[in-house]
Amino acid sequence: MAGMGDNAKAEKAKAANKHARPNIIIFIIDALRADHLSCYGYGLKTSPHIDELAKKGIIFENAFSCMNATEPSVTTILSGKHPRTHGILHHGNQVTEEEIEGFTKTGTKLLQEILKENSYMTFGMDWLSRWHKRGFDYYHGITTSDLEVKRSIVGIIKGIPLLGQIATFAFRHMLPKRLTDKVRVSLDGKQITRKAIELIEQNKGAPFFMLLHYWDTHVSFNAPNGIYKKFLKDEHNGKKYGDFLKNVNRETVKEFYEGILDQREDMATVIAKYDGAINYVDRIIRQITSKLEAEGISDNTIIVITADHGESLVEHEILFDDHALYEPSIHVPLIIYYPKAVRQGRFSQLVQHTDLMPTLLELAGLSACAPKDMDGKSLIQITNGNTEKLRDYIYAEETYNEEKATLRGERYKIIKSVSGKGTCRRCRIIHGADKELYDLETDPKELNNIAETEKKALQEMEERLETLKSHFNTKREKSRIANAISGIKA
Ligand SMILES: [Zn+2]
Ligand SMILES: [Zn+2]
Repeated sequence: MAGMGDNAKAEKAKAANKHARPNIIIFIIDALRADHLSCYGYGLKTSPHIDELAKKGIIFENAFSCMNATEPSVTTILSGKHPRTHGILHHGNQVTEEEIEGFTKTGTKLLQEILKENSYMTFGMDWLSRWHKRGFDYYHGITTSDLEVKRSIVGIIKGIPLLGQIATFAFRHMLPKRLTDKVRVSLDGKQITRKAIELIEQNKGAPFFMLLHYWDTHVSFNAPNGIYKKFLKDEHNGKKYGDFLKNVNRETVKEFYEGILDQREDMATVIAKYDGAINYVDRIIRQITSKLEAEGISDNTIIVITADHGESLVEHEILFDDHALYEPSIHVPLIIYYPKAVRQGRFSQLVQHTDLMPTLLELAGLSACAPKDMDGKSLIQITNGNTEKLRDYIYAEETYNEEKATLRGERYKIIKSVSGKGTCRRCRIIHGADKELYDLETDPKELNNIAETEKKALQEMEERLETLKSHFNTKREKSRIANAISGIKA
């Protein structure tokens, strides 16, 4: 660190590390598929800083989200429970009041609530402003009234013939970017970074927990102009962005997609823009880790890098998030940097987001406070050298646009429609088929559906999937009953 003598640095570190418990920062990088990070084998150098953290920390090569949609997935990260167990299965305006009430009735304890009870300062910046914001001392999100004001202004302008078209055209093509950025509800990650640095400065002497949710990697891929050019590949994809929009059936989604990227753009350019956004997030989160180093608290801070779900970039003719359960949509990065207490290395076991909360509680010395009804298991046993399998299968769902579930082992993976409702509401087709079975050993890209020919394997996988689904459903109901009883006793 430039400009600070060794003694001063040591003093600062000593003062900051007075508290025994480690600080914890979870970076959720929205829609970040694992295989586009260089440390997960991507051919382009998208993530030099995250690669460094991964090299000094632990990297889970086979980590999966439990849902291909943001809100249920974030709830899982903060609760250690599968969506079916915590009860939030949908996203956005599809989440019903009953669902939210049902979630409350499970008595689910969130990570930040437990940490707060144990003297942590808790900070959340994820813009969603939903049920999971409770337990934060400071929370930064978009309020419902922000969105309502924005929607009504847009509605009025659009309602006036011609003016609506002129305003939309001007917004997209004529106004300087710095002005349009102000008009949009801005989700630029540099705001999160700036605030996080300020909070670190103010709270460096106490244990703190931060949830930092970056949206730059979500379509429309926010990054400084031109950064994507570094990631343009020579070969073209052959498809234009507009070709994919023809499949989009939902008007609001279609309008949103039409407004964010040029329809004439080759898909290779769109993918380069996604990579550029990853590179941008990589740069701005480095400012936070540099701040931790400058304050001498880096050694006492656990850093987690993950994504709420992945991103489909033309695979299976599917674009972006919230539909499909193929690998690009559910295979997420999971990196834990805490060299003081965690052995370095790469681990190939099947892990899920449910495992994160028990892992962090163990690292913070708070396993005794871990809720008994979590679905996940602490990953520290793996990093300590225990080679016993944590699980044989991961389970994930997509219920926002289509009702589908998947069970994925090391070899076979089944994707099936739930209750015959597999048709994608966004695209009005069934992606793939009602039942799909893939042999990932010979077909890692899931191109050859063997459901018709491998009947025995299909039946076994289907039975396992149904058993696991019922297990989560039963567990949710048990939590509700137990919570109701404890309420009566209290
Ligand atoms: Zn998301
Ligand atoms: Zn779809």
